[in-house]
Amino acid sequence: APTLLWLRQDLRLADHPALLAAAAEGPLLPVFVLDGAAAGRWAPGGAARWWLHHSLEALAADLAGRGAPLLLLRGDAARLVPALARETGASAVHATLMCEPWARRQDAAVAAALAADGRRLSLHAGNLLLHPDAVRSGQNKPYGLYAPFARAVRAQVPPMEPIPAPPRLQAAACPRGGVALADLGLLPPAREGDWAAAFPEMLTPGEAGARERLHRFRRGVADYRAGRDSPAGDGTSRLSPHLRWGELSPRQVWHAAAEQDGHEAFLREILWREFSHHLLWHRPELPDTALRPAYARFPYRPDAMRLRAWQRGLTGYPIVDAGMRQLWRHGWMHNRVRMVAGSLLVKQLLQPWQEGAAWFWDTLVDADLGNNSTNWQWVAGSGLDAAPYFRIFNPVLQGRKFDPEGRYVRHFLPQLARLPDRWLHEPWAAPAAVLRQAGLRLGHDYPHPIVEPAQGRADALAALGELRAAA
Ligand code: FAD
Repeated sequence: APTLLWLRQDLRLADHPALLAAAAEGPLLPVFVLDGAAAGRWAPGGAARWWLHHSLEALAADLAGRGAPLLLLRGDAARLVPALARETGASAVHATLMCEPWARRQDAAVAAALAADGRRLSLHAGNLLLHPDAVRSGQNKPYGLYAPFARAVRAQVPPMEPIPAPPRLQAAACPRGGVALADLGLLPPAREGDWAAAFPEMLTPGEAGARERLHRFRRGVADYRAGRDSPAGDGTSRLSPHLRWGELSPRQVWHAAAEQDGHEAFLREILWREFSHHLLWHRPELPDTALRPAYARFPYRPDAMRLRAWQRGLTGYPIVDAGMRQLWRHGWMHNRVRMVAGSLLVKQLLQPWQEGAAWFWDTLVDADLGNNSTNWQWVAGSGLDAAPYFRIFNPVLQGRKFDPEGRYVRHFLPQLARLPDRWLHEPWAAPAAVLRQAGLRLGHDYPHPIVEPAQGRADALAALGELRAAA
């Protein structure tokens, strides 16, 4: 009888504990189930679905090349996976552990249905450095703060080398026909035009693309600390969608980086990813609710016009608008700009962080429930280990500091290209003659700031004052 490998967010062959365990049991039947309902509103958003389509395409080719074709199904995974095990006589299903609350509920249902006829579900923590239950404080509790968590993981990270992909797999016969990849309907509908057309300019979905990116970045590890905050540069790894979809394991990334000089700053970010997943596992309310209870009552002022202006890159703050356009064009945004754009939305514009998280969820190819939720709570000051609320990013100063020559802003906002550096991050302050010379009509080619800088800051602090007064 075959063993089922239920693939989900682990779309690779190398360093894949679930694949190895399943293949060791005999003939292998790899299956992916597109289940639109189980995840509810956390089903992959538009950009992530685009990525998933191409990643599955690459994985299916790799699996077929090694002799074990991928079966694609569509529907209720909690029903389909046990049914497939029954039809094929498989005694076990292997999968990679997921921390998403909806996936844990689904795993429990699959495990129960399998157990009812003597089969088992084996979960392997292959997308994490360590199982989230294996990292506990001295009081035997999960961690809520990054620094002690990171120390605890560093003390335990397994020295084991990543395991190479098996060269050949033994295929199992499959009694059931699958769905063609195109019929999963993951690509954006034609009416959305060429939204995703420029995504491939930056990154290539699939394990080979991931390996190639890791290989290229390896040489940049030593420069990461100095270059990581420059949005115009290529100083970060851009491995996020590859990690999100499990085209690489964090252990592969960790080991590749740890061999390089000056790897500390980079490994800290891999530990932030690990921490975000640890939080999601232990605090399943993370995507929806402020972890600091007081912040659940933050006096936001939901305003559809403000939200829309932010989403479309029309706030009048160039560094933020450039970021939002990078997001739209490439399905990815530089971390520094994610922080500044997030801060503007939540603080100066007083929009709920959940709205920002939802937009990112739909537009990022790396949209990841643990990372996205943790970072939005960090931005909003509502996370346990968040930036203090009163630290309000000034988008003008952030722009000047991190994009001093304006390469990033000019690239994504060509209408500002001829503005001198001095005014680039605050075009509204430029003298009329400068604007004329730069061919820029404010309010026409580019908006006035959606909120005056001083007013935005005052509004943010007043809201914080209100929250404190109510406490
Ligand atoms: P690098 O700087 O090269 O870092 C390497 C890897 O470490 C990343 O690929 C990522 O897996 C991890 N990492 C880096 N920074 C963080 C962080 N702050 N938190 C958790 N993990 C991190 N990252 C996502 O993967 N998915 C998201 O949905 C997401 N949403 C975010 C929302 C906001 C508001 C903010 C401020 C950040 C968000 N991040 C998210 C974190 C971070 O911005 C991205 O991981 C990073 O920009 C990806 O680029 P990179 O791969 O070049 O990162």
